[in-house]
Amino acid sequence: MTEGVLRARKQLDANVNNFMYRIKLTELKKQELKQTKEALKKWENYREENKNFEHEVDEPYKELVKIKLPWWYLTTQATRCTVCEENCHYPGCWWVSNLSKCSVMSEQGKCTVCTKKCLPTKHEKDDYIYEIKTKRVKRTKEDLKKKYEKEFRDKKKLETKLENEIKWEEAEKIRLVEECYQCFEKLMETALKSTSMSSIQHLDFMIEKMKETGKQERVLKLEELKRRAQEENKGLIGRLCHQINVLWKDSA
Ligand SMILES: [Zn+2]
Ligand SMILES: [Zn+2]
Ligand SMILES: [Zn+2]
Repeated sequence: MTEGVLRARKQLDANVNNFMYRIKLTELKKQELKQTKEALKKWENYREENKNFEHEVDEPYKELVKIKLPWWYLTTQATRCTVCEENCHYPGCWWVSNLSKCSVMSEQGKCTVCTKKCLPTKHEKDDYIYEIKTKRVKRTKEDLKKKYEKEFRDKKKLETKLENEIKWEEAEKIRLVEECYQCFEKLMETALKSTSMSSIQHLDFMIEKMKETGKQERVLKLEELKRRAQEENKGLIGRLCHQINVLWKDSA
């Protein structure tokens, strides 16, 4: 395999890992919007100015956390974008003298993974990755007013606005799932042992998400890839790689 092909594979693999993160984020954003909408529905004396109103939501946020991988794991560093706050090369980022040489960077000198496709200089390589977490927070009438300045006066308008935002997150998720599938499809074309791909461990999640978008044909293709990967895992090296993945998942 030529170096170019190998690099392209690594980029696809890294993209899949990044898509997982972004898909989860859209789901959590949607959940928060739905909670707000539900609370709004129960809010009866909406027009009464002096009545305050509190509700709780699970707010998603990004946090930098130290990578926890077993000591014998081949490389325990990650390249991440500080602008997009996303992981661009994780796992599997090897030592490089200069971040522009990290395999997720294109020849034109831009990242091929993060949302804004940022320059290498916007990236960091160290022992930290971004994780998406949620925290339970109280929201007041004032918080809503601040966020939805235009729509706040009219309950109906505010409901419509929230409904549209929920739809937007749904559409975004479908788009990301589709893009992620395209990466898997290209990886499948280059018929190399699946055990060399870290993205294989996300297949179950991906199959579940694809089912939600209702694209049955793509679900079947992903299941076929999963079978193929399981077949390959029966080999000795395959078993070892599988174990590494399992351990990695446990410790992550
Ligand atoms: Zn790298
Ligand atoms: Zn990046
Ligand atoms: Zn970026």
